[in-house]
Amino acid sequence: MTRSSSAILNILNLTPEELRKKFTELGIQSYRASQVLGWIYEKGVYDFERMTNLSVDLRQKLKEMFVIGIPQEAERESSGEDQSTKLLLKLSDGNFVETVYIPREGRRTVCVSSQVGCKFHCAFCASGQAGFLRHLSMGEIVSQVLLARDVSADKKLTNIVFMGIGEPFDNYRELLRAVRTLNSKEALGIGARKITISTSGIVPKIEALGEEGLQVELSVSLHGATDTVRESIMPVNRAYPVKTLISTCKKYIKKTGRAITFEYILIKGINAGEKDARDLAKLLKGMLCKVNLIPYNPIKEFEHEAPTYPEIVRFQQILQAAEIKTTVRFSKGRDIQAACGQLRSVTCHPEQASDSERVEGSG
Ligand code: SAH
Repeated sequence: MTRSSSAILNILNLTPEELRKKFTELGIQSYRASQVLGWIYEKGVYDFERMTNLSVDLRQKLKEMFVIGIPQEAERESSGEDQSTKLLLKLSDGNFVETVYIPREGRRTVCVSSQVGCKFHCAFCASGQAGFLRHLSMGEIVSQVLLARDVSADKKLTNIVFMGIGEPFDNYRELLRAVRTLNSKEALGIGARKITISTSGIVPKIEALGEEGLQVELSVSLHGATDTVRESIMPVNRAYPVKTLISTCKKYIKKTGRAITFEYILIKGINAGEKDARDLAKLLKGMLCKVNLIPYNPIKEFEHEAPTYPEIVRFQQILQAAEIKTTVRFSKGRDIQAACGQLRSVTCHPEQASDSERVEGSG
């Protein structure tokens, strides 16, 4: 590799401020950074040659210094049921991740992945089944949003949820850089309140987020109100037990003044009985929070099922009786395996992959 090629930077790995600084260092006027950002983030142009308000010389210089490292769309599947679209994206090192675009009720949401694979091995989640490969860079996170934006009919997104493959808080630095870029008026300008970070409950990072002064939404995947229940399906509970998790959440709420959403998958025979509902109501009573109940989406590695509709309603009623705001969220995109917990990463193209070759990420 020559010196210049080894110094080639993926422009998507730079925040708008960093790009401006880099341009200044290179003797390029700072307003040129705004023009480049406009092409990428507003117009969806990922090729310097097409940035026609830049001089030919500048385009050439940029091509020598930078790449616009947008992943390749390897596959696109659209749901017949609800118009969700799942993109399989090939990263520059040959790994794949999945991203889901979900248009619903006036919102256009993208569900993004934060890692290739996942370390946390939640029993019910496809994404962690085959372990962890690597973190995604900020550019790889931001790219997913850009490509989903390009799928949407009017090329606009309203919401971003970090509920794809991976544990966002295990990749805290790149996650936060991505959030700041997505939020920046110079990039996508998506309001922080429209960005949701979902975590399996990594206590030190909940504390850290509380210190960031960001208005993002925090979701915590709870799935069990006692250590016995939670530990049986979420190994992470051994490191951060229920009591510690909930007291950290209370501190976060106090510090930020912002509510937390608790995600709770309902799995028949595991965590979905009336006693489980009462335990959950006791645990969360009086907190500034809401609960999202998600009927379990079956995956082949965890042979269980969601409760019946009346059982789900009963569970919800017990929480509501304790004055806990509770909604039941029926996942979108089940017919294309794009629903919560069904996303997987693959190390080679899925059509060529045998089952044993698959590496499954979280989600
Ligand atoms: N690691 C993060 C983000 C990814 S999971 C987290 O744990 O929050 C996003 C959401 O999908 C979480 O609430 C997760 O628990 C849920 N989920 C995972 N597998 C699921 C399944 N099989 N059915 C329904 N929801 C699932």
